[in-house]
Amino acid sequence: MIAPELLRTGAQAKSSDFYTIATLGSHSALQILKGAHDEGFRTLAIANRDTERLYRSYAFVDEVIGIDHYGQFMDLVPELEKRKMIIVPHGSFVAYLSLDEHKKMKIPYFGNKAVLDWEASREKQRDWLTRANLTLPQQFITAAEIDRPVIVKMYGAQGGKGYLFVRDAQDFEARGSHLTQQYMLQEYIIGVPAYIHYFYSPLTGKLEIMSMDRRYETNVDSLGRIPAAAQEHMDIDPSYVVVGNSPLVLRESMLAEAYRMGEDVVRVSQEICGEKGLFGAFCIETIITPEAKFFVMEISARIVAGTNPFIDGSPYSYLNYSEPMSTGRRIAREIKNALLSNNLHAVLDDSGIA
Ligand code: AMP
Ligand code: AMP
Repeated sequence: MIAPELLRTGAQAKSSDFYTIATLGSHSALQILKGAHDEGFRTLAIANRDTERLYRSYAFVDEVIGIDHYGQFMDLVPELEKRKMIIVPHGSFVAYLSLDEHKKMKIPYFGNKAVLDWEASREKQRDWLTRANLTLPQQFITAAEIDRPVIVKMYGAQGGKGYLFVRDAQDFEARGSHLTQQYMLQEYIIGVPAYIHYFYSPLTGKLEIMSMDRRYETNVDSLGRIPAAAQEHMDIDPSYVVVGNSPLVLRESMLAEAYRMGEDVVRVSQEICGEKGLFGAFCIETIITPEAKFFVMEISARIVAGTNPFIDGSPYSYLNYSEPMSTGRRIAREIKNALLSNNLHAVLDDSGIA
C-alpha cells in the first residue's frame, strides 16, 4: 500500500523519466500518451502509414514508429522488448492482435492477461458477470426459443458491425437463418445505453468511477429522427456501428448500483483470474430500462474509447482529483505510483516482468 496523498499530489517521479509508455496509434492512444506525458513519462506511438503524420503532429508524442499495418506489430516486439518500456493496451490491441500474440509478447504490459480468456469467451464472460450479481439480457440457444425481439451478435464483431435486430422467431427465419458466421441471440433491451468507465487501483485497493459515455451508433441512433410511418416503406434495418461517443452523467440515485457492479466484478475476477484479478481501467456496458434497472451487455477489461470525451477529466474524476484526470492519465499515475513505491510488478501482467 502507498500513501493516498501520492495519488493526489501528481508529484513528478524521477524514476518515471526513464520509462517509455507505448501504445498503438489508434483508438485512445492520444489520451493515453497525453496522460503519460503529463505524468512525466516518455511516449511512443506505433502508427500505420495513414496515421503516422497525425501522431507526429502532437508535442506530447516523443517518438513515432511507423509500420505498414498493425498486423506487423509483432515483428517489432523483439526490438521493443530490449527497451525500458511499458505497453498500455486499448481496443485496437484486441482488434489486431490474437490472444496468442498477446500472451507471447513479453514487453511489460499494464493489466492482467489472465483476464483476456474470461473476456474473450462469451460463455466465460457470462459466468463471471452473473457471479458478480449483474443482470444480463436473456440468451437464446436456438432460433425456436425466440419469444421476443432479439439482437443477433456476430462473434468477434468489431464495434457492433454486422449485428442484426430481429423482431421474432419468424423474422429470424426470414433474415437470420442464412448466417454462416458464429453468432449469439440476445434479448433486445429497450433503454438507454450507458457505458461506465472504472479504474481499480491494485496499489490502494480502491475502485473509482472515472466517467461515462453513450455511444453514437449509425444508423440506429438516427432512426428516431424519421417518423415511424415514413420508415414503414423505407426498408431500413438498424445497424450498430459506433462512430463516436458523447459524455453522460447518471442520475445520482443510480450511482451506488453502478459502483456496486464495478466492485463485484473486480471481486469475482480475483476469484477466477488469479490473485491479481482485473485491475486498471475497465468498462461495464449497460442498457438502463425505465425501471432504472441495469442490463449488462458486456465488459471491456481495459481503457475504452468512450473515455475520449474526457481527456481533460470528467465530472466524476474531478470529484476524486480536483485536477484534469483522464483514464489515460490515471493509468500513467498508477504506473508512476507503483514505481515510486518500488512495486511495479503490482500493475504489470506477471508474464511481462523482466
Ligand atoms: P480502431 O482503433 O478504430 O481501429 O478500433 C479498434 C477497436 O475499438 C474496434 O473494435 C472498434 O470498434 C473499437 N472502437 C474504436 N473507436 C471506438 C469508439 N469511439 N467507441 C467504441 N468502440 C470503439
Ligand atoms: P456491443 O458489441 O455488445 O458493445 O454492442 C454494440 C451495440 O449494440 C450497443 O451499443 C447497443 O446499441 C446494441 N446492443 C448490444 N446488445 C444489445 C441488447 N441486448 N439490447 C439492445 N441493444 C443492444
